[in-house]
Amino acid sequence: MFRSIRGTLLGWYTVILLAVVATFASLLYHRLQILTAKRIEAELAGAAALISRRIPHPRGHPRPLLIPEDLLKRFGEEESEAAYALVWFPDGTRLASSLAPPDVPKPHAEPAPPPPGVEDDPLQPRFRQRGTLYEVVLPYRGGGFLVVGRSAAVEAAQLRHLAWLTFGLGAGLVALGLAGGRWLVGRALEPLRSMTATAQAVSASNLSERIGKVGRASELEPLAGVLDGMLDRLEAAFEQQKRFTADASHELRTPLAVIASQTELALARERSAAEYREALATCAHAAQRMRSLVDGLLTLARADAGKIQLDRSPFDVTACVEQCAALMRSLAADRGVTIGLALAPVEWNGDLHRFAQVVINLLTNAVLYNRPGGRIEVGLRLAGDLLELTVADDGIGIAPEEIGSIFKRFHRVDPARARDSGGNGLGLAISQSLVAAHGGTIDCRSELGRGSTFTVRLPPP
Ligand code: ADP
Repeated sequence: MFRSIRGTLLGWYTVILLAVVATFASLLYHRLQILTAKRIEAELAGAAALISRRIPHPRGHPRPLLIPEDLLKRFGEEESEAAYALVWFPDGTRLASSLAPPDVPKPHAEPAPPPPGVEDDPLQPRFRQRGTLYEVVLPYRGGGFLVVGRSAAVEAAQLRHLAWLTFGLGAGLVALGLAGGRWLVGRALEPLRSMTATAQAVSASNLSERIGKVGRASELEPLAGVLDGMLDRLEAAFEQQKRFTADASHELRTPLAVIASQTELALARERSAAEYREALATCAHAAQRMRSLVDGLLTLARADAGKIQLDRSPFDVTACVEQCAALMRSLAADRGVTIGLALAPVEWNGDLHRFAQVVINLLTNAVLYNRPGGRIEVGLRLAGDLLELTVADDGIGIAPEEIGSIFKRFHRVDPARARDSGGNGLGLAISQSLVAAHGGTIDCRSELGRGSTFTVRLPPP
């Protein structure tokens, strides 16, 4: 029925308020009605008892009798409020006070027998109501009745007046309650409005908007916190993505520029075969560099999407590490670096090629960020049920403030030097993704100028 929260809240609020006010007013009215009737009946019963004592028993009739009118007057100043009395004698004669209306019917019902144990009082009163007239009937044992009655028109008018007053007050109360409810609901929903406005202001180009404090509505505070946290993460992710795209384009531009300039140069005039060969070799090297970059980006994209396919099978880790070290030996020798192995025999179930890629990456870094005469120690062992591979070098090391960043994409501690070494800043990020895909961890301890140790820990599959 109501589309908005405000409409629903106000609707329910109105229904409940109306129900409470109406119930209260009708209960009050009903209770007052009963009390008024009881009061009138008690008055009439009292008056009837007094009158019956002052009138001689009608059995002795006929004797001229007088109804004590003074007693009847005490009910009210107005004639309409004054009581009236009538006596029916057993012989059928009727005596009426001056204000008695002419059409009072003679009570005909026999008095109900008194309940057992109650004294057989000949004057057990009975009450009857005719329109606004209330009457008490006192039957005499020997026959005949005394009827004392009065109009309750004034009380009825008062009750009607009270009903209207209650209705007016109730309506006022409901209107006041509604206005208050509207204000309260508006205040309670204000934070939601500001949250909506912030959410609307957020776009891919503007992720810096935050909801912040949402005022008194402490129930919405956690939601605002969660949304702000989400925006923080989104902004960081967008930033990272932007930086990543910029870095990737920058990295791709360099080899592309090399290829473009080499081909332009070669085509500018007639060249010797040796010159063409040299230009083509440079282009091939640049293309190779681009391919390794694109392969790396593809691996990272798959890792981000959780789509790295692992081709797990049992393999001899010791042999794999030995082969990787053998592959690296010529590069290491070129740089005057030696590689030592301390390998325990380890069999493991995993993706051999991905594991070898990690070992090659770590060994390449250990060779490239080293000095002539440097030494690399590769260790392999089982620590409990974890496979532990360490690649330690005594090369240039990494400053403590940089250690936290070296696993980030395209991060290079010394860009100039890293580019000299042919690195593109993706090796460690890719290694970390591959290790994570195996459920493992990779960490680095390093001291500037003294060397670094990278440790890979892989759990059993
Ligand atoms: P790159 O392709 O530039 O080597 P990596 O992701 O493999 O990229 O490494 C990131 C950066 O971490 C490197 O640029 C280098 O500064 C630093 N680094 C990595 N391994 C070592 C190491 N063994 N010794 C010193 N610095 C290292």
